[in-house]
Amino acid sequence: MAQLYFRYGAMGCGKTMQLLQVAFNYNERGQTVCVIKPRTDTKNGDKLLTRIGPERETDFTFTRRENIYNRIAKDYRDVDCILVDEAQFLTAKQVDQLMEVTVKLDIPVICYGLRLNFRRKDGGFEGATRLLQLAHKIEEIKTICDCGRKATLNCRFLNGKLVTDGPDILIDDGKSDIKYRALCNHCYYKLKENS
Ligand SMILES: [Zn+2]
Repeated sequence: MAQLYFRYGAMGCGKTMQLLQVAFNYNERGQTVCVIKPRTDTKNGDKLLTRIGPERETDFTFTRRENIYNRIAKDYRDVDCILVDEAQFLTAKQVDQLMEVTVKLDIPVICYGLRLNFRRKDGGFEGATRLLQLAHKIEEIKTICDCGRKATLNCRFLNGKLVTDGPDILIDDGKSDIKYRALCNHCYYKLKENS
């Protein structure tokens, strides 16, 4: 019986790297995977990139309106595993469609994504929230803050300053310096007081 997995972690914990490793392991055994991600306006386009080098083309990307179950049932029903990158950007409906993939098509689905948005409130990302409610298995990918504690927060820095409000997706206009860092709660409060 196939299952729906949500493997979440803060920014920079190597989620995409782990996804690529799983894809590699399947391929090495002569099995096939389908690698997908939600389409956002970021620069990477249809590729999965990692900070340390390896990359891979997606099999397809999809908009918020697309029914992923239908797409997989039509074109990918023979694959051995579905791997989803940037799963926090799924809609709640699309998470339900991925659950249908595990139940009706009996294909395991492994989603990688962030649990919380940089504002750390309002339920985080719709896709992550629904995955936390629905997934058969929820697993944390751990990463470390600069101070050595476990990092659980994704923080946005604009021109070097911690920001705690703004749009979910910030387009790089080339003029401002936008960075994300994984922080522990301790460092978050310290930086927030100083900002
Ligand atoms: Zn810290």
